Amino acid sequence: MKTMMPGEVWMGRLPHGCDLLEALNRICREQGIRLGRIEGLGAVKKARLGFYDQTRREYDFLDFAQPLEIVQLVGNVSMKEGEPFVHVHLTLADHEGRAFGGHLAPGTEVFAAEVVIQGLTGTPLHRGWDEETGLPLWGEEG
Ligand code: ZN
Repeated sequence: MKTMMPGEVWMGRLPHGCDLLEALNRICREQGIRLGRIEGLGAVKKARLGFYDQTRREYDFLDFAQPLEIVQLVGNVSMKEGEPFVHVHLTLADHEGRAFGGHLAPGTEVFAAEVVIQGLTGTPLHRGWDEETGLPLWGEEG
């Protein structure tokens, strides 16, 4: 655990039709956000969510080829291989209010999205290979 301090806040909407994960990564690169937290809401035209199979140690992907509400978008920004890296989980709801969610993957297309990225100051966390999980988790040295 580290102590971080609030930094600058970026608040705005994402372009219609953009890839959600790529748009968030681009904002962080362009704004120089190396550490932070992300929240948002809106709607997507289609979605691709990952579920990490803890036994096989790889992601399975669920594809939703329909419009869905973003009930909650929550995530963080840290560093991976020298670049800002966005990690987001989504809760989505269909036209009957049924919700499901998972790890945001490339291939999720924005219909409209309102996002707040809270930058944090302090030594950035760096992702590196974690033997126990097979995931790129935050290291101790970060
Ligand atoms: Zn995840």
